[in-house]
Amino acid sequence: YFFTIFIISLLFIMIKPDGVQRGLCGVIIKRFERKGYKLIGLKMLNPTEEILKEHYKDLADKPFFKKLVNYISQGPVIAMVWEGVDIVKQGRRIIGETNPLDSAVGTIRGDFGLEVGRNIIHGSDSVASANREINLWFKADELIQWKNHSTEWIY
Ligand code: ADP
Ligand code: MG
Repeated sequence: YFFTIFIISLLFIMIKPDGVQRGLCGVIIKRFERKGYKLIGLKMLNPTEEILKEHYKDLADKPFFKKLVNYISQGPVIAMVWEGVDIVKQGRRIIGETNPLDSAVGTIRGDFGLEVGRNIIHGSDSVASANREINLWFKADELIQWKNHSTEWIY
């Protein structure tokens, strides 16, 4: 008990077109930065329907699937990979519930959203889906390994 083992994991997040259009990129990035998480990949892109259908394939039989793909394919989006302790669970807490109206004030969706079909941001729901999504959206050489010297003051 003189040392603790920290299990570092990765999270894929995507600022959806409404988040980009409304100028929320800075505040979203800041919320992950100030928690102590490390950004290791970032890009802006106009996502194809093909990548979105693959990304959301588990929802393919939902009634809102077509609308969802259409909404996000309007682009642009900002795709990111963040790294840190317990980041998938904590990331969901930072983001809030799927429906902004169910999301606590202080979360991204709770502070900035009103509508489930315009909920600003995507975040992976498990370590397995984070890994799947990172492989889908990023090439290995787009992820940057860097030493964050402030980490030793965080954990
Ligand atoms: P989350 O993004 O919180 O993980 P889901 O994975 O369940 O939520 O759904 C993916 C996305 O599909 C949501 O973020 C939202 O944009 C959209 N969505 C979910 N439920 C609905 C709904 N009932 N009506 C319209 N869009 C929805
Ligand atoms: Mg989800």
